[in-house]
Amino acid sequence: MYFIYIFEVIKKCKVINYNFEKQIEKQIMPTKKLSRGKIVKKLDAIFSQYIRLKDVDHLGNATCFTCGKIEHWKKLQNGHFQSRKHYSTRWLEKNCQVQCPKCNVFNYGEQFIFSKQLDIKYGDGTAEELHIKSKQIVKYSSNELEDMIKYYKNLVESF
Ligand SMILES: [Zn+2]
Repeated sequence: MYFIYIFEVIKKCKVINYNFEKQIEKQIMPTKKLSRGKIVKKLDAIFSQYIRLKDVDHLGNATCFTCGKIEHWKKLQNGHFQSRKHYSTRWLEKNCQVQCPKCNVFNYGEQFIFSKQLDIKYGDGTAEELHIKSKQIVKYSSNELEDMIKYYKNLVESF
């Protein structure tokens, strides 16, 4: 009888211990890995913040690359010269400039003016160079994307 009691106690302890270990595991182990789509979305969001914040003035205003409109960075967007569908230039800083919603959305990015402005800012041939680069096939691993998220998150937090 006594042994059965002891046995029950040990069994209970094991169950408690097991649950405790499970809880610890849940706390230590990272939560479920993000899907690739979600990682890309996360990188787009932090990269967009970086592009809009890197040249703000003391009031938090930035200038539209294609029309010169000055607005608070939160009202501006990250405009792509070569479309976001091209992964080789999607997170390339030269390819991404601050734009107002009118230029970026309603005027489809003002690509012609964008190209002229790129050549003025970075030198002749820049727009063409980006156009060629956009055609290259680049495949980022999820780890590389996560590293880029960390890199831009640190930069944004340093502003
Ligand atoms: Zn604009």
